[in-house]
Amino acid sequence: MGIKTSEEYLESLKKLKPKVYIAGEKVEDVTTSKYFQASLQEACKFYDWMHQPEKRGDFVYWSPLINEEVSFWTHIRQEKEDFFKLLRVMKKNNAKNFCSFCMGIGPCVFWATTYDIDKAKGTNYQERLIEFFKKIQREDLRFCLGVMDPKGDRSLKPSRQADPDLYLHIVERNAKGIVVNGAKMHTSSAPLAHYIFCAPCGFLTEEDKDYAVSFAIPVDTKGITFITRPSPCPVDPSPMTNPASIRHNMVECLTVFDHVFVPWENVFMAGEWDFTDRFIHYFSSFGRPVKATCISARTDMIAGAAALISDYNGVSRASHIRHKINDMAIASEIGWGCVLGAVANSVMHPSGMTIPDISISNAGLHYTRLRFVEFLGMLMEIAGGVVTTMPVEADFRNEETRPLIEKYFKAKADVSTEDRLKLLYFIQELTASRFGGYFLSSAICAVGTPETNRLEVLRNYDLMTQINNVKDICNITS
Ligand SMILES: Cc1cc2nc3c(=O)[nH]c(=O)nc-3n(C[C@H](O)[C@H](O)[C@H](O)COP(=O)(O)OP(=O)(O)OC[C@H]3O[C@@H](n4cnc5c(N)ncnc54)[C@H](O)[C@@H]3O)c2cc1C
Repeated sequence: MGIKTSEEYLESLKKLKPKVYIAGEKVEDVTTSKYFQASLQEACKFYDWMHQPEKRGDFVYWSPLINEEVSFWTHIRQEKEDFFKLLRVMKKNNAKNFCSFCMGIGPCVFWATTYDIDKAKGTNYQERLIEFFKKIQREDLRFCLGVMDPKGDRSLKPSRQADPDLYLHIVERNAKGIVVNGAKMHTSSAPLAHYIFCAPCGFLTEEDKDYAVSFAIPVDTKGITFITRPSPCPVDPSPMTNPASIRHNMVECLTVFDHVFVPWENVFMAGEWDFTDRFIHYFSSFGRPVKATCISARTDMIAGAAALISDYNGVSRASHIRHKINDMAIASEIGWGCVLGAVANSVMHPSGMTIPDISISNAGLHYTRLRFVEFLGMLMEIAGGVVTTMPVEADFRNEETRPLIEKYFKAKADVSTEDRLKLLYFIQELTASRFGGYFLSSAICAVGTPETNRLEVLRNYDLMTQINNVKDICNITS
């Protein structure tokens, strides 16, 4: 059965026994720990949507791999139309729910990379990947992505680090599989997943071939430890004070591998350093349109909040505010346009997978994410200083102080103070809270930084044709 219910998902998590620490405590059961409740609700939401008639069409796919309906999480998107569908759903959904699922691009990246390695080296990585994905699809399992290593001294290659474990690497190969040591950083939602997928985070050379390793294993495999950062949602959230973090609240992990055994059937790269550039290329080609879609949708959310608070405050006609909201709309459309352009301009990989244009999507993401950072400041300016100085909800609930808050936080006559406060708390979460910091960092660092976008455009944009055109125009023949 390719589609689980949220109850079945929670039962399946209970059966796993990952080694998880959070906020100084060891967790025996993530499904009952207070630190995971909000994140679990968010994870369950994705299962619930597949059973809701109005959302089913967006979140259920047909898998030719197992000839069954599968969840949008586990579907391998080979067709251009499938990828368009994912992005359209994200664009619509993230403007209201913050996050849909960018990890779903993982299988596409592994699909193309394993195909390339097999063709060149006669290995059978793709066959293993397909068998693995049949299981993931049938059981509707979740996976997290462990790509980023701790990296130690950034100026040194993995094998030149003072501590060899600062990048995940193979320490033993035997007839049954490999043994790995090291760690991955920032593994989002790992303790709420069933499997962790690992891959190298950069180009490697021959001396680093033991660091060229990719595999998937259950999160409760012996030797794995997750040191988890609680999500930005408080453990006792209030719908009024925490309207954003109650909806979107991933936990993040340092994931340590201490002599972890991985059977060969779960290994998708083991020493092929000369294909790490392919992996990074595909990761960038699939990851950047997804991230740009997310930022475009979140920019839509900011534009909506800015328009509503300016109306509540009676300044919606102020020209500088209209101008700023207009800029938000333009940046959102540019980001989204680049996403659509990148997919329209996809190239067909010999494995049968369409790969989006890497330069257009990186350019779109670079532009929108930097504007997004500015827009958070603009939203704060449009909402005013109350975003950081207003009383907390407890004082609004206190009968002694509420009348004063009702009176002095009133703006336009036809808008209740309570509605205005609800919106201000939302803007506070987006711009001036622990959630706001996470929101900002997710725009700047997640799925690579703006500098990586710049590098991808530099590498892939066809500047030579432009130079030759200019030489032709000027009749320069040298
Ligand atoms: C909310 C969030 C969720 C994330 N989720 C995941 C996840 O699920 N899985 C995952 O694998 N990763 C995840 N990431 C990690 C993300 O991909 C990285 O944060 C990002 O790629 C930047 O890497 P870094 O954080 O190690 O920064 P660094 O690499 O330390 O970069 C810091 C600065 O140093 C510069 N720099 C680094 N190395 C060099 C160098 N050699 N030469 C010149 N300049 C250099 C960078 O350009 C940057 O300006 C997540 C990140 C965030 C914020």
